[in-house]
Amino acid sequence: MAFSASIGTQTAVQQQIARLAALRDVHAAMEWFRSHEPELRDWQLEVAAIPAPPFGEGPRAEWLHSRFNELGLEDVQVDAVGNVVGVRPPADPDQKLVAVTAHIDTVFAAGTPLNVHREGDRLYGAGISDNGAGIVGLLALASALRAAKVRLSAGLLFIGNVGEEGEGDLRGMRHIFCESAWKDRIGPTVVLDGAATDTVVTQALGSRRFQVTIQGPGGHSWSDFGAPNPIVVLSRAIARFSRTELPAEPKISANVGVISGGTSVNSIPESASMRVDIRSASQQEMERVERALRDAVAGVVSEYPRRARNGSKGISYEIQLIGCRPAAELDPSARILQVIHAVDAHLGNRARPHRASTDANIPLSLGREAISIGAGGTGGGAHTLQEWYDPAERGLGLKRALLAVLALAGVSQ
Ligand SMILES: [Zn+2]
Repeated sequence: MAFSASIGTQTAVQQQIARLAALRDVHAAMEWFRSHEPELRDWQLEVAAIPAPPFGEGPRAEWLHSRFNELGLEDVQVDAVGNVVGVRPPADPDQKLVAVTAHIDTVFAAGTPLNVHREGDRLYGAGISDNGAGIVGLLALASALRAAKVRLSAGLLFIGNVGEEGEGDLRGMRHIFCESAWKDRIGPTVVLDGAATDTVVTQALGSRRFQVTIQGPGGHSWSDFGAPNPIVVLSRAIARFSRTELPAEPKISANVGVISGGTSVNSIPESASMRVDIRSASQQEMERVERALRDAVAGVVSEYPRRARNGSKGISYEIQLIGCRPAAELDPSARILQVIHAVDAHLGNRARPHRASTDANIPLSLGREAISIGAGGTGGGAHTLQEWYDPAERGLGLKRALLAVLALAGVSQ
């Protein structure tokens, strides 16, 4: 019975999308995307040329703050952690806001030559697509809705968020959903990340990252020979940890990505460390593998005396959590999922469900409805200096985001 009921709801959502798409104002908004592509492209070149390394998003936030103001959003501000927020007010103030967000940070360290430029119709440069495309998506939605004077029942909360990449550890989204004044006013969330229209991220790939440091007394390789060697201890711990079973389903990965330690070939090192990344969509599996890591390190260290023979200190260790992204999954019956499926069916767009680590991790882990989609167009070379973006198919991505946001917010006549 549940099956036929959900088919019924899906049909109703499908009809809602068809009705929305037929409205004159909505048509005008879609037409705006087509006729304003040159402006979108200019915005993209402009924003991608402003460096936004992890923890250095300030100048880009300033730029976006000015655009939000120009586009007539209200309550525009840069919040305590550096997110840029602006509101399109609701017709019905009792309805929850629909959040539309794109990360403004890049993976590129300060000083990286971004080399943003255009060749023919293609745009090039580090970060041009991830997330130049998403940021332009936010601006395009705000502009088109304004130009076409579409009246929405629910308000829209536009957010350029900080700290999505790497060690940023989703701090912008954490702040919005855990600390900001908006946290209880947000209903569904649509994340725009990168180019394309062929996926819907519905599963939040979680990760836990650790820095493991082993310390010992150190010494001269000849005269202090026999003192415990942190590099050897660390290597033994890695070998033990690497025997941990990692099932294919639910998939989990573990990676020792960086090791460091020691000063010279004829010194017993005083310390050695590694960085470990554990990823899965299953929180339980991640916790199990984290325990295996802790057991491997503690087990190997316990085989060494606490004090060296000469009374100096023995081996000690520290495990520091340097990144933590919650794993979670969208409820298959969630309305936001029905909406995006109906939008894709309406537009004849084929998209597959996807598992990834995105801004949606935070709302999903809090049991909120969220999806992450591309902002249209095609792109490649993400996280490299050869990154590119082609806006030819941008219109499809923007229509897709627009219809999804309209269906979630409701259009008042
Ligand atoms: Zn991204």
